[in-house]
Amino acid sequence: MTWYEDLPKIELHVHLEGAIPHKALFELIRKYGGDPSVPNTAALKKRFEYRNFSQFIETWSWKNQFLRNYEDFIYSAMLTARDMAKQNIRYAELFFSPSLFVRHGLEVQYITQSIREGVSQVPGIEIRLIADLVRDYGPESEMRTLKALNEVKNFGIIGIGLGGSEHEYPPAPFEPLFREARKMGFFTNAHAGEAAGPQSVWETIRKLRVQRIGHGTNVYKDPKLMDYIAEKKIPLELCPMSNVRTGAVTSIQEHPIRKYFERGLIISVNTDDPKMFNTSLADEYRMLVEECGFSKKDVCQLILQGIKSSWMWEGRKDYLIYQFQQESSWKSIMGDERI
Ligand SMILES: [Zn+2]
Repeated sequence: MTWYEDLPKIELHVHLEGAIPHKALFELIRKYGGDPSVPNTAALKKRFEYRNFSQFIETWSWKNQFLRNYEDFIYSAMLTARDMAKQNIRYAELFFSPSLFVRHGLEVQYITQSIREGVSQVPGIEIRLIADLVRDYGPESEMRTLKALNEVKNFGIIGIGLGGSEHEYPPAPFEPLFREARKMGFFTNAHAGEAAGPQSVWETIRKLRVQRIGHGTNVYKDPKLMDYIAEKKIPLELCPMSNVRTGAVTSIQEHPIRKYFERGLIISVNTDDPKMFNTSLADEYRMLVEECGFSKKDVCQLILQGIKSSWMWEGRKDYLIYQFQQESSWKSIMGDERI
């Protein structure tokens, strides 16, 4: 194991549907008669290369057709959690997008129950769920999903997010839905500033009043927005390699993460859809050190920022930080230093 793999980590922006290990996904494809475009796992890996964001969204939908019944959710959730635990990810807030599957006859409640059943079988990692609503389906349809989610909160759903085609569907029409979600006691975040510019982030903050921004890759293009986010301490869930793979940034060296770090924004590092971007959380941190001017000490600092921007209760955060500081991989860089 490399230092990056060994290091205890947490993740706040990762989608179950994009984190299913290739072998498991290939098994699902085979279960449903196979697909001539992917005769083996190597071809599947190749299929997950994109020219732009639209092509990524298209491939995302293609892959989802192989999650057809509740057993598929138990199976993929269990193998995804196992894969995360193997990389020493101790805590994750995991997105899932029930609306995609409701359209194909499944029910929100049983999807949620199945995912919980799958992840519960894996020791060593605590997983909480964020239901990611889909912009493309419109606020009315997503309000129905929200109401169904509220009934099964006790399966560990702590938050509501908003994903899909940001460049085509602005956030404002979802204002009443987010108000309702807050009333129900959910935390909220939304993808913004990834496939659209700073205006989309402003609108997300003002209309949806989210507690975290997913991505925020284009925030730096508006200095006033940078100042606002710094002042209000709104955490950004950054996903560097995802942005490279979908073309949101031209290369990892061009990613604004270093700018944000130096400006003192609260940021976390995440993989988004690791298996669809051929990345891992360990790889993300390694890239930051090798390509973006971060030190290993900075990496520990980033992990602490992630814990602080998570939706755990405060005592739980302190305990997790304490646990991380006891690990030899952590101590080898930080010694007994407490940040
Ligand atoms: Zn995402």
